[in-house]
Amino acid sequence: MWYTAKFTFGPVHSRRLGLSLGINMLGEKKKCTFNCAYCEIGKSKPSEVVPITFRYKPPVDAETFRKEIESAFKNLPEIDSATFGYMGETTLASHLETYLTIARKVKENVARPDKGPLISIFTNSTTLGDPAVRKVLAGFDLVMAKLDCAVQDCFNKVNRPDHSVPPVTAIIKNIALLREEMKSHAPNRLAIQTLLFKSMNPAIPSNMTGENLKALSEAYDFIKPDIVQVYTVARDPAETGIYAISAKDKDELRQYFQAHVKAKEIDIRIY
Ligand code: SF4
Repeated sequence: MWYTAKFTFGPVHSRRLGLSLGINMLGEKKKCTFNCAYCEIGKSKPSEVVPITFRYKPPVDAETFRKEIESAFKNLPEIDSATFGYMGETTLASHLETYLTIARKVKENVARPDKGPLISIFTNSTTLGDPAVRKVLAGFDLVMAKLDCAVQDCFNKVNRPDHSVPPVTAIIKNIALLREEMKSHAPNRLAIQTLLFKSMNPAIPSNMTGENLKALSEAYDFIKPDIVQVYTVARDPAETGIYAISAKDKDELRQYFQAHVKAKEIDIRIY
């Protein structure tokens, strides 16, 4: 089944989430603090790259949202995740907490709380310096926070952040703050998402380098997320010359992280 409504679409088969109902809070135009070289939504127009203080404030349409979620949870009992994301950085939506509360209530009423879909969210981690954003995120069953590069030069070339985005060292500290704050919301979990790619494009070198893998291992040890999800490009990237890592690369990554990440309680998954 495939449908697109005002807020919800799918469900889509996701490598990391199983059967996922997509939830878009950002309207029809991309709004993001990054302009990732591999973005699968496509190349950002200058007007679509926004500062970390930008907030998208459309009129709240709680009733339509509630009806869409209720219908999806009733008619698609097999979905594994109701996933807030897509069209950019979802924490820029000012009404995110209102809609999270609605999704939670519908899950309690329609699905069995112990069996219902995870209420999940993707974030690119750039807004986590704001305590209000971290507070909302801590209420999700699963937060998937992006960290593709732990070295500043790599971060600049791969994620191409807006000038308001703090350095990657600060982003790593902010993800660690979220990790701490989520401890009082157990069993909600934090996953770090790392997309690695190869490249023939000299302007956008591969981020699967020894320097970046070492810095990522140190960042994982510092943050101590529940899960690390390493994956690669699966659809057309925004820029040419970028391509997926191979099965052999994935085997090597598995061995590398096993050897270099000291916090053995982190569940490292390579997709
Ligand atoms: S953070 Fe996500 S939506 Fe934003 S540019 Fe990167 S891949 Fe695209």
